[in-house]
Amino acid sequence: MPTLVIFNPATGAPVAERLADSAATVAEKAATARAAQPAWAATPLAQRLAAIRAFRAALVAEADTLAATLTSEVGKPIAQARNELNGLLSRIDFFLAQTEATIADEPVFDDGGMRERIEHRPLGVVGNISAWNYPYFVGCNVIVPALLTGNAVLYKPSEFATLTGLHITRLLHAAGVPSNVLQCLVGGGDVGAALVAQRLDGLFFTGSHATGVRIAQAVAPQLAKLQLELGGKDPVYVRPDADPMAAAESLADGAMYNTGQSCCAVERIYVHEVLHDAFVEHFLATVKGFKVGDPTDPATYIGAITRAPQLAVLEAQVADAVAKGAKLLTGGQRLPGPGNWFAPTVLTQVNHTMELMREESFGPIIGIQSVRSDGEAVALMNDTRYGLTAGVYSKDEAKARELLARVNAGSVYWNCCDRVSPRLPWSGCGDSGVGLTLSTHGIQTFTRPRAWHLRQA
Ligand code: NAD
Repeated sequence: MPTLVIFNPATGAPVAERLADSAATVAEKAATARAAQPAWAATPLAQRLAAIRAFRAALVAEADTLAATLTSEVGKPIAQARNELNGLLSRIDFFLAQTEATIADEPVFDDGGMRERIEHRPLGVVGNISAWNYPYFVGCNVIVPALLTGNAVLYKPSEFATLTGLHITRLLHAAGVPSNVLQCLVGGGDVGAALVAQRLDGLFFTGSHATGVRIAQAVAPQLAKLQLELGGKDPVYVRPDADPMAAAESLADGAMYNTGQSCCAVERIYVHEVLHDAFVEHFLATVKGFKVGDPTDPATYIGAITRAPQLAVLEAQVADAVAKGAKLLTGGQRLPGPGNWFAPTVLTQVNHTMELMREESFGPIIGIQSVRSDGEAVALMNDTRYGLTAGVYSKDEAKARELLARVNAGSVYWNCCDRVSPRLPWSGCGDSGVGLTLSTHGIQTFTRPRAWHLRQA
């Protein structure tokens, strides 16, 4: 059997080894999931809800261990690992509260002779291939509603969050989900590719645009339902009527939280020229106040870069921007190892000829561009293939909403950023993906509506 070695990105030291799956074991797991799914779909919803409730309780009981594991394999600051676990609880609460009503049969017509109903049936066997940056969120956004709606799930966590993926699977099994109904596939892209080659009724992917496109091509002949939650280059505009200090503090957090490794991290900032200098001064002071270092220290705000190759991407973006005239205000280079470290980095005098303002950075690095008008800001915000989130900071709600209505993004924010709510659909436009999770739509997405036409004989 192949072995996967898990390293701590903050120290470079090996943390654990796990047996990895192969194409043969993936096929076996897919077959047993297929066989187990009908009984799970026939299990009363109350029993499936009880299992998820027990899973929630176990997350609370084991929070210390789970957070420590997450920090050890992803390099996420421990306080943010705990935040992720806490945030997961409210997502689970939403699914527990909403699933029954969301998938209830819907009578839509009755004229005495003819009745019409919509039934929400599970898709069947679904694959979940996921990213490492918020493994509890992106894993459970799929696993929890998919199980509640009666699907079997083949779950391939990221190879950079394998131990967390195995914890999620273990806790769900202990909570009452049959072991064949949820199965964890351990390994990297080759194991993901082996999963995509199985007969699936749905494939739910979270990761990079490049991998998403590859998966879409591979899964096309199956005509299975496909959802892709991909990257972004999320812009924010600070209008002249905004409070520059409050906006700077909020946006420094939005850009650098999770060490900038969030799909909805603020990746581009446009500031009206009248506020630019005051905003930049306060933004820089906020970033310089972030504690960088040991992710196990509860005071740490900036942790390690999870994937070593991303360091070269960040370096290249800085070099390209500086060569084209950007001003580097702080950071801009790797920090000494062991492990993968990059200094929080702020650049001004940037423009859209620079990679920094065009391609996802996925690190603690941000470009701030001065603009002269609302119109210029909207044009720049839309100058991207991505469309995950976008925000406007302004005292004027009507103006902010008018501008946001013109921006191409799945989520739009007024005076906030880098925010996900279980009550709202999470989706992207353009290269940020297709489909959605969360909200009641993100429960129904794991079902196939069946049309019932019933005539009394
Ligand atoms: P990635 O694309 O490198 O990997 C994602 C998953 O795909 C991993 O589990 C990996 O093993 C698997 N994979 C790789 N090649 C594969 C193949 N050929 N076939 C099948 N599976 C394959 O992405 P990542 O580095 O894990 O995650 C970072 C990216 O995810 C960023 O772009 C980020 O913006 C995005 N992301 C998006 C969201 C969202 O909700 N839109 C959330 C989190 C992360």
